[in-house]
Amino acid sequence: MVHPPDVLNYAALCFRTAMTERFSPGQVIVRRELLDGKPWITYPVRVVEDSDELLAVYLAQGTPMTFGSGPFSWGPHPWQAIADTWQSPGVLQLQRPGDLYAVWVFWSDDRSRHDWYVNFQRPFRRTTHGIDTLDLELDIRVPGDGGPYRWKDVDHFESRAQAGGFAAGEADRVREAARELTRALDRGETWWDPAWSQWRPEASWTVPERVPLTVAESARPAEAARN
Ligand SMILES: [Mg+2]
Repeated sequence: MVHPPDVLNYAALCFRTAMTERFSPGQVIVRRELLDGKPWITYPVRVVEDSDELLAVYLAQGTPMTFGSGPFSWGPHPWQAIADTWQSPGVLQLQRPGDLYAVWVFWSDDRSRHDWYVNFQRPFRRTTHGIDTLDLELDIRVPGDGGPYRWKDVDHFESRAQAGGFAAGEADRVREAARELTRALDRGETWWDPAWSQWRPEASWTVPERVPLTVAESARPAEAARN
């Protein structure tokens, strides 16, 4: 006999599976930043954790970047003039569903130091190949040693907002999210687990291969793909 609670649980499970297919730890997925409806920058990342509360992905040092063919309303991606691979040590990107930012964990070369780098970006959306987002200029650097946090690129953010570069209401939502976050920082609180600073990638994880532009351009929203 099936009891009502079991039916409810089963329905909830089916609903969740249909709505959100999870990525597996170690899986390489495609992270795109979409600008003007086209991939601006695309690179592969490895999934560390994918749960209701958190998506954690790893950008390995040396990861190839794929830049979209313009023109773009914001111009070419700023990294395009620097290199076509990720030069810094590997970065862990922690993001909660719906949040207007991800927390990037930056390590020094010898991993003796780390920073929590709050990168404002559109809430991630799942696609047929991975996730979509878009950088929103503003950043806050939170030193791992407990030193004071520092705002970054506030001028860039405000001038882009003034120029109408963001979606309607988006700049206000970013400012509010930033206020909420810094209020927590002022209280000495962070939602992320400080133990992430001790996390290390699996030794077997190789640097993922370049995402071909055709693949970057073919990714579609995950919901539409199932219809
Ligand atoms: Mg940024």
